[in-house]
Amino acid sequence: MKDKIHVVDVTPRDGLQNEPNPIPTKDKLALIEKLVAAGIKHIQATSFVHPKWVPQLADAEAVAAQLDKFPGVEFSALIPNLKGYERAVAAGIRHLEFVIAVSDTFNRKNLNRSMTESIELLNQVSRRAEQDGVVLRSGFSTCFHCPFEGRISSRSLLSAVRAAREQGSWRVALCDTDGMAFPDQVSEALALIQEELKIPTNELALHFHDTYGRALANTLAGLEAGIREFDSTSAGLGGCPYCPGASGNVATEDLVAFLDGMGYESGIHLDRLLDAAEFASHFSSRPYQGHVLRAKRPAACGGIPTSVGATVS
Ligand code: MG
Repeated sequence: MKDKIHVVDVTPRDGLQNEPNPIPTKDKLALIEKLVAAGIKHIQATSFVHPKWVPQLADAEAVAAQLDKFPGVEFSALIPNLKGYERAVAAGIRHLEFVIAVSDTFNRKNLNRSMTESIELLNQVSRRAEQDGVVLRSGFSTCFHCPFEGRISSRSLLSAVRAAREQGSWRVALCDTDGMAFPDQVSEALALIQEELKIPTNELALHFHDTYGRALANTLAGLEAGIREFDSTSAGLGGCPYCPGASGNVATEDLVAFLDGMGYESGIHLDRLLDAAEFASHFSSRPYQGHVLRAKRPAACGGIPTSVGATVS
């Protein structure tokens, strides 16, 4: 058995924030229950952003209030600013992801401030987190490509990560927001960051979207660079409001089957995870985005079950 991998299921946040239909709080909690039953130990439960911007996550406090039903699971939430920090901490969340973009244009459109202003804000949030004993993760969007600025160079990514690490030794998540990264780019960026900043591999995480079907290839590049923390969404839910056509994250069931097949230890029960994926797929306004649920349970994806012994080519 190879190393233990931390799979961070971000369905309740990244997966659901983009869905046009409102999803009741009780259904979000039912999904979380299924993820926990499958053995997921890290879940991004919600986001404390202004409800005007992300109405799907307006029930952040109501979701957070129910999370102590799941002992032993690390729940995190995304925050864009100090107000979000305060709401999240008041709601009892102790692991927060501060969102920031490598691309200045994306940062302005998504967060309404420059990248430099975001770093200053991260400094303030860091000081508060240190005082409060809260654990932060800096979540960088557009690490490899931006829908407005195009390809992001590894040097640009390096300087953004350096600026964030100067505010505190928090973990850093590198997000491929529109799913445009290639494995060689991921390898190059990780090698540069590790060489220049000496960040331990257990302080880096990867977050791939699967728009062009490259998420697992990019995951392999991350594994080979020593990264052991990966984000994903059940049934591959999600998208990006600024990236027309961008699909969701790599499906959690695809990631887990991939890791299992290569001998990594995820601690996750694949069949129970498929129950979660089947449930999650009901919330999606799009056809099923992953692979493994369709392969194992085609009827759940609107397909026709293949009869045993059928001749296929
Ligand atoms: Mg994302």
